[in-house]
Amino acid sequence: MDSQQGAPLPDVVRQGDAYIEDFRRAGHAAVEWVARYLGETRKFPVLPSVRPGQLVDALPRSAPEQGEAFEAMLADFDRLIVPAVTHWNHPAFFAYFACTGSTPAIVGEMLAAALNTNGLHWLTSPALAELEQVTLDWLRQWIGLPENWMGIVYDTASTTSMHAIVCAREMVAPEVHAEGGGRDLVLYTSGQAHSSIEKGAIAVGVGQKNVRKIAVDAEFRMRPDELEAAIERDRAAGLRPFCVVATIGTTSTTSVDPVQAIAGIAERHGLWLHVDAAYAGAAAVLPECRHHFAGVERAHSFVVNAHKWLLTPIDLSAFYTRRPDILRSAFSLIPEYLRPQQDPRAHNLMDYGIPLGHRFRALKLWFVMRYFGREGVQRVLRDHIEWAQRFAALVDAHPEFERVAPAPFSVVNFRFRGTDEQNRAIMDKVNASGKTFISSTVLNGTFVLHLAIGNLGTQWADVEQAWELIQAAAQSPA
Ligand SMILES: *Cc1c(COP(=O)(O)O)cnc(C)c1O
Repeated sequence: MDSQQGAPLPDVVRQGDAYIEDFRRAGHAAVEWVARYLGETRKFPVLPSVRPGQLVDALPRSAPEQGEAFEAMLADFDRLIVPAVTHWNHPAFFAYFACTGSTPAIVGEMLAAALNTNGLHWLTSPALAELEQVTLDWLRQWIGLPENWMGIVYDTASTTSMHAIVCAREMVAPEVHAEGGGRDLVLYTSGQAHSSIEKGAIAVGVGQKNVRKIAVDAEFRMRPDELEAAIERDRAAGLRPFCVVATIGTTSTTSVDPVQAIAGIAERHGLWLHVDAAYAGAAAVLPECRHHFAGVERAHSFVVNAHKWLLTPIDLSAFYTRRPDILRSAFSLIPEYLRPQQDPRAHNLMDYGIPLGHRFRALKLWFVMRYFGREGVQRVLRDHIEWAQRFAALVDAHPEFERVAPAPFSVVNFRFRGTDEQNRAIMDKVNASGKTFISSTVLNGTFVLHLAIGNLGTQWADVEQAWELIQAAAQSPA
């Protein structure tokens, strides 16, 4: 079959050979594309120069009536899609949070898509259920969580933290499960927590007015005294505190909440403690960073995203809890007495969360962990942290710049000693160069520049170049 003529029709597809040969050719071409792309990501501008709506306008309004050839799609991918891509793979992408994929994970993703196996319950995919269990237990050991904690994979930290909030409610107000309500429940997190915590609370019906954003100290860490005072105030007002979310590595500054002290308060008041370490959780693989995680063993749950700083492309969020019984009672809709005789080792993922379908995400993480090994991952993280410290030192030594927060991991927040407008102009100019991409945040009402290192392909020279661009932009920001 000549694929230039279009894709084979379904009856041809069902016959097999031509369909498979067509895939083999396109698959090889795609792998070649990926290899070339990953080898020369630096040649792409980090940010695309497209207007909003440009790609929409360039694409047909409706899908084709007749099937098309892979060649046509791959050509349009190069011509239309790639130029509209922001290259998170670019070694000089330093915006938002550090984030990186890797080749073993790409191979794992492809194989998972090929199998298209769906882990609803054990029998629908024993390999998925058991490999996820094993891989998350490997990761649990690397990041030093206690042995009896169960791990499960969800898509994003936002989804994961919402599940943690439901667990908290299940523990403190189990009647809400059947009856609804729970309008007196109150959740606590810091003013620096990720917006997903408040969104999760909204989604499960806690209501924004019952989300307390506890004040932070000068280093952007939740103040335990303020937390305790807020809980006592709410109790006195007849409300029911049920959940506290601490963050290790907040999104703006990567500050670390005092989990040990917060755990003490949560225990005294009978609250569920969830730890959001979506980005910084990866750093627990390094013994020298473990002190940031002191007290996590006293939490009820913990989230780390492999798709941030663990060499795994989006999405893979790892949820750990020492109360899988509560997670299960929250989400298993089959009452225990109706449950068929089951092998206790047959793990049914659908009992532990909202989604019924369950992607084989663990396969890519398994590939990553085996390809790099713990030492390989540690080397990558250590480099990133070291370069962030070096960058912070350059900022500190520069008379016209200042750092605005500690940099415990691989993120540095800093500013030109000038107006917000000048800092914004510096960022815009640096980003318009196409050579690097930094972002911003607002701290204490001030516009702040944000540089996050986390890409596998990054070298110190990329960070150095960003610093040179930033300094040059500060000289002539317009
Ligand atoms: C990135 C981040 C999130 C959100 O992660 P998603 O996987 O994109 O939902 C939540 N919390 C923290 C601390 C983060 O850094």
